Amino acid sequence: MLKVYNYMEYIVANELEKLLASTEDTCKCQKCKLDITAWTLNRLPPKYIVSEKGRIYTRLGEQNTQFRVDVTRELTKAILYVNKNPRH
Ligand SMILES: [Zn+2]
Repeated sequence: MLKVYNYMEYIVANELEKLLASTEDTCKCQKCKLDITAWTLNRLPPKYIVSEKGRIYTRLGEQNTQFRVDVTRELTKAILYVNKNPRH
């Protein structure tokens, strides 16, 4: 089934897992991860695509470097923010 997806959500989730894997002092509970994801997505432009869910992952490698840098920069800020203001 084809649907409209915000491709940015998948990129942010993917990059967040990588960042969390390399940090020790960040809470990795579901609540904090979702807070970090929401904070980041509110600061990045959405990228809507028409696709089937399973096919989005295969496109993750095609993103350009600047795009990835922007996502990582906002995610890093979000992690710092949520670390200081955990909601649990
Ligand atoms: Zn937490």
